Amino acid sequence: MIDASKLTEEFGCLVFNDKVMRQRLPKDIYQAVHKTIEKGTHLELDVANCVAAVMKEWAVENGATHFTHWFQPMTGLTAEKHDSFISPTSDGSVIMEFSGKELVKGEPDASSFPSGGLRATFEARGYTAWDPSSPAFIKDGSLYIPTAFCSYGGEALDKKTPLLRSMEALSNEAVKVMKLLGYEDVNRVNTTIGSEQEYFLIDKDFYKKRKDLLFTGRTLIGAPASKGQEMEDHYFGVIKPKVSAYMHDLDEELWKLGIPAKTKHNEVAPSQHELAPVFETANIAVDHNQLTMEVMKKVADKHNYACLLHEKPFEGINGSGKHNNWSICTDTGINLLNPGKHPGQNIPFLVFLMSVIAAVDEYAPLLRLSVASAGNDHRLGGNEAPPAIISIFVGDELAEVLKCIEEGKDFAETGKITMGMGATVLPHITKDNTDRNRTSPFAFTGNKFEFRMPGSAVSVANANIVLNTAVAEQLSRIYEKLSKLDKEGFEEKLKDVLKEELLAHKRVLFNGNGYTDEWVQEAEKRGLPNLKSLPDAMPYWISDESIKLFTKHGIFTKEEIHSRYDILLENYSKSIHIEALTMQEMVRKDLTEGIISYEKDLTKELVQKKEILGEAGGSLETGILKTLDSASSNMSEALAKLFEDTKVAETKEDLLDQASYYKETILKDMDELRKYADEAENMIPDKYLSYPTYGQMLFSLR
Ligand code: ADP
Ligand code: MG
Repeated sequence: MIDASKLTEEFGCLVFNDKVMRQRLPKDIYQAVHKTIEKGTHLELDVANCVAAVMKEWAVENGATHFTHWFQPMTGLTAEKHDSFISPTSDGSVIMEFSGKELVKGEPDASSFPSGGLRATFEARGYTAWDPSSPAFIKDGSLYIPTAFCSYGGEALDKKTPLLRSMEALSNEAVKVMKLLGYEDVNRVNTTIGSEQEYFLIDKDFYKKRKDLLFTGRTLIGAPASKGQEMEDHYFGVIKPKVSAYMHDLDEELWKLGIPAKTKHNEVAPSQHELAPVFETANIAVDHNQLTMEVMKKVADKHNYACLLHEKPFEGINGSGKHNNWSICTDTGINLLNPGKHPGQNIPFLVFLMSVIAAVDEYAPLLRLSVASAGNDHRLGGNEAPPAIISIFVGDELAEVLKCIEEGKDFAETGKITMGMGATVLPHITKDNTDRNRTSPFAFTGNKFEFRMPGSAVSVANANIVLNTAVAEQLSRIYEKLSKLDKEGFEEKLKDVLKEELLAHKRVLFNGNGYTDEWVQEAEKRGLPNLKSLPDAMPYWISDESIKLFTKHGIFTKEEIHSRYDILLENYSKSIHIEALTMQEMVRKDLTEGIISYEKDLTKELVQKKEILGEAGGSLETGILKTLDSASSNMSEALAKLFEDTKVAETKEDLLDQASYYKETILKDMDELRKYADEAENMIPDKYLSYPTYGQMLFSLR
């Protein structure tokens, strides 16, 4: 249990953070590192040597024997290779060494990481380069150094490099706009992210008994339990004692790593929970989210749970997402998405708001793609998560401000409305200027936007790369317009530009319920794309528009875009392929075994009854046997079809063609097979099944 009085000391105790650097580095070295972090300047080798020596000393004091360059290849996971600090001496002993060169650059053999054809196998070499803007930390006896990962030719092979590039692009464009608006002192703009992480906990023994969970992260068969989430009794419900112990332990582990875990609660589905951190600079937040997912699993294991991060582990109940709270803040401390007391007159706010609206409208397919994965496609549009249509919720007050801009009127402020709660003991509280709209994929929530489409399992890097770049592009376009305006009556003319922008992009604004069919129809009328799956959206990734956007801002080269196209498609097809094989195995072996042994017992029973009661006896057993037989014969037919089609899928050569086949044919075959498998499972008593049922898995947490 955490000693609350020691928490402030314990927080970040395993992190080589600013405080440690200030205490331990010589002043000039500290300042040089700071300059690199703040301004992105190049770091000299002598500085790196000094930092490395101090870092090693600190790491060894804290129990580290090894160091590793920690990076985020295109697998969506993190990667690490550990080297010890030891260096043998002539007298047969060792000393602990760590040089600036080792800190700054690593050369992992990179041939087995996905590169989408960027790196021929004979060029196995890849480089990792220290990212000083994300602090190093200690985990499991190693010093972890966050790094970017690129090929021998310098192409990005990871998620961090383009994220850092996109933050810089956004900052450059935002600074230009701010200076134009008279904010001469702004020299950098920071992207901030808080990513709320949803997850399921189930008993570890249950997890180990299900091949589908082990191999694919989601259940591929399983009849629904009699109770689902219809009572809405889990959301914000009392946290059970064992779960609470897990959450405490998790918080403590995260805090030691300097991850500001803040909020925890039960989610809508049974056994589903959420953790939200305090927001941080984008690349640190992304690193921390990767670590959070890892620590969640590790701590779960200690508590005899399995932590499921898949977007849709259970059919028929809510899946898990990762809400990406996103804002931009100047180095002078202005949150550019904070409307302030007078949003109608807050010019920077209005310009940035309009740029975000334009970016989301203009690049909706890319945003949709940034969250596309085989897992997340099950979730989007499933009446539990926003649909695959991208729209923006701005709330009543901002809608009113925007209406005034459109009509060329001044915004008459209503001021904060206080609410009386009807009992004198209760305080009067002020109402927020946005209500919550949980059905919107992209919602303004007071001083930030919340992008709710990312899936729970993936890195949020992609979403933020696209978002930052799209907004950078719109800022650059709007800057061009604004820079041509006369200084005379500038503000009036600026409002005309905003009106023009609003008229061009207001189709993306929607304050209503995003889960309804009416919205799907309305969105179609407005011409908003509804890209339901990854293969539907993929062509946009390599479109001229996308290549123009990313190359103009230096985020990706054309080759990098194409390599990511290949990797995404391959990954999608491989995931569904593994699911198809796993499902066949479970049905053919585990479920069939259950059906047969139950049928055997029933038949024995039936024969005995007939002996006692004559021909008329055993009508119950006969009835069950008949229904079970019909379900299982449909099941074997569907199984045979899935088997044949999976073989066809393997022969497809074009990547998009193959992915589309997995989506159109294999996923449908799997749905069909599941229908009959679940029908059969539903008739079999639990004791005949070698794996746990939905009811057991979802309602056993204590
Ligand atoms: P809500 O519950 O309305 O979504 P919270 O204040 O609880 O709002 O915030 C949810 C998440 O948004 C948290 O992770 C929080 O740190 C993050 N957040 C708050 N302000 C910002 C900001 N300026 N930029 C990015 N994320 C933010
Ligand atoms: Mg939220």
